[in-house]
Amino acid sequence: MFVHHCTACSRRQLIFPSLVTGVVPSGDGLVLAFTCWCGAEQTTVTDNVFTAPFEPTTVEPSTVLDDATAAA
Ligand SMILES: [Zn+2]
Repeated sequence: MFVHHCTACSRRQLIFPSLVTGVVPSGDGLVLAFTCWCGAEQTTVTDNVFTAPFEPTTVEPSTVLDDATAAA
């Protein structure tokens, strides 16, 4: 899912996969067609929505082991 600024209701809406009605390849990436919660048909390019929200957090395994050892 991703956050989309709807051009019809002018609100930032959380768009779930169940709202997506179509996926079309384009030069910039995949164009997602979906229906906003307000009922308006919207589109967005996947490059805009799937890059930022999925930054992984990394945990150093050695740090976790050290903490467990120190607590024991
Ligand atoms: Zn809307």
